[in-house]
Amino acid sequence: MRDFFIFNGMRKITLNFSLLASVLLVSACGNSQSVQTAAPVQTSLNTNIQQGDVEELLNYLSSDELKGRQTGTEGIEMAAQKIEGIFEQSGVQEYFDSYRHNFKIDGVEGFNIVGMLEGNDPQLKDQFIILGAHYDHIGVQKAIEGDSIANGANDNAAGTVAVVELAKKLAEIDDNKRSIMFVLFSAEEMGLQGAKKIAKRLKEDDLDLYTLFNFEMIGVPMKDKDYLGYLTGYENSNFAEKFNEYSGKKVLGFLPQAQEYNLFKRSDNYPFFEQFNVPAQTISTFDFTNYNYYHHVADEAEKLNVGHMKNVIESVIPGILKMANTPEKEIKLN
Ligand SMILES: [Zn+2]
Repeated sequence: MRDFFIFNGMRKITLNFSLLASVLLVSACGNSQSVQTAAPVQTSLNTNIQQGDVEELLNYLSSDELKGRQTGTEGIEMAAQKIEGIFEQSGVQEYFDSYRHNFKIDGVEGFNIVGMLEGNDPQLKDQFIILGAHYDHIGVQKAIEGDSIANGANDNAAGTVAVVELAKKLAEIDDNKRSIMFVLFSAEEMGLQGAKKIAKRLKEDDLDLYTLFNFEMIGVPMKDKDYLGYLTGYENSNFAEKFNEYSGKKVLGFLPQAQEYNLFKRSDNYPFFEQFNVPAQTISTFDFTNYNYYHHVADEAEKLNVGHMKNVIESVIPGILKMANTPEKEIKLN
């Protein structure tokens, strides 16, 4: 309150007037409720994500019913319909004629799921940010202890849930100057095929892509880190630095193993970097020591930390919104 009075003369007058009015009201009718009407309006961003929604979608996508979401199967069709239903309910728009971008790979029919929120600035809306995650997995594998379904909870139902929840939340907040596209990639496990197809298509459409932010394996927290998730290709751009500045905290960091194993080239961000030559990077919290079920039939929902997932999703919202709203493109390749 002290800063308020010292630095804002105009509001001091308004507030004093309100206080005076309240005092008069209180003394007139003895109703202390009137004092509360003079309180300033709260304008802080509501980033609250429902943990129950995170859990429900994670459980569905990684249930045995979906049989590991292999591209071209009934299981991935069910995952797609679930995501499309949520997009529709939340007011997420179609980018193509439907939420699907169809392609064929080695005789297999695949489709990415694509939604968007058009920007509200007449100029900046032609620039796009893509939030992505692959929603396919490796399907049915050789049985281990009677279990043959690779449920792909961490890889990558977790990232899929993040992008779907972000779509819902950003639609609700409805305050993006640039357009935001949400892409759930298929055929990642067949060699980033879905991402390659749509990156090529969007390049042909001459899309003005600002950045791509991809979510992979965010289901378990890392230990002893001063940041929440690492960014692949950390050293290629100022993405992490600007994002942390926008967020007011260290959301993104550098993991040496990510560089060592060249993870930058091992997920769906990479085809976008190749096509567009813009910052296109992946956040992950899988650090090679905190999860033993990579591409294993035991990669199941019960092994994940839903509170951590909620935290990751909530923590990236301010950075994404700021990225969507700065007058200039501040995130650049080095
Ligand atoms: Zn995988």
